[in-house]
Amino acid sequence: MSRVIAIANQKGGVGKTTTAVNLAACTAVAERPTLLIDIDPQANATSGIGLSKTDVGTSIYEVLIGEASVDDAVVAAPNLPFLHVIPAHQRLIGAEIELVNVMARETRLQRALEAIRNDYHFVFIDCPPSLGLLTVNTLTAADTVLVPIQCEYYALEGLGQLLNSIRLVQRNLNPDLRIEGILLTMYDGRLNLARQVAEEARRYFGDRVYQSMIPRNVRLGEAPSFGQPIITYDILSSGAESYIELAKELMFQDKPAEKMSAGEPA
Ligand code: ATP
Ligand code: MG
Repeated sequence: MSRVIAIANQKGGVGKTTTAVNLAACTAVAERPTLLIDIDPQANATSGIGLSKTDVGTSIYEVLIGEASVDDAVVAAPNLPFLHVIPAHQRLIGAEIELVNVMARETRLQRALEAIRNDYHFVFIDCPPSLGLLTVNTLTAADTVLVPIQCEYYALEGLGQLLNSIRLVQRNLNPDLRIEGILLTMYDGRLNLARQVAEEARRYFGDRVYQSMIPRNVRLGEAPSFGQPIITYDILSSGAESYIELAKELMFQDKPAEKMSAGEPA
């Protein structure tokens, strides 16, 4: 059975792409057929996994506007036999506008994925930092949403907006959408502030917050510039260890993902 997981938070720089790339690499190394979809015009997941950002053939853009099938867009990830990628390209910037007058524009990705979702155990979709049409398409196509939260000031601010968007999608487009989990990223246990954010997140979301927290780790920040996930760049780093632990939690999660139950952050 496949699980399509949107990695979303409209706040920028919270670790969405880092999480998408590294989780996908970990489940692939665990020999779960995995698909990583980049739906952000910045194309950071595309380059982070080792593909060229500029020399992209068919990308998610052509799929969304109906010029290509999803099969045409899928490519193999370098060095990871169980991982496929649908890359993004800067062209995607135009998609939000081009799709405005298209019928059923919110369900384009969902319909495109129908043909291939069962070929994979996990599908991870890296969202842009906005709640626009690309993110709405992703939430509509997804089974669950994984929300990375950076352990810094204002971390929980704006989460209400994201939860609202999730509710709207549940009500109108995808009633089965669930929260996969809340992930604390760039955690530095020496800082009171980081500990406070973690406590607050656990108060609101209870056991929806993953036990695994991603530490701030220089190696995690370096890996994308080498086009490598952390498990091939530096398997012994704390960053690699934390994403392996997270992948295990995800793969062996026994409780089904919940429909939204937690209260909204203030
Ligand atoms: P955007 O909203 O722009 O898409 P994002 O939410 O995808 O950003 P990332 O690109 O994953 O965030 O991370 C932002 C920056 O922080 C990147 O330079 C990344 O390499 C770095 N980074 C992410 N996680 C960590 C970490 N745990 N430790 C150190 N650096 C990190
Ligand atoms: Mg990103």
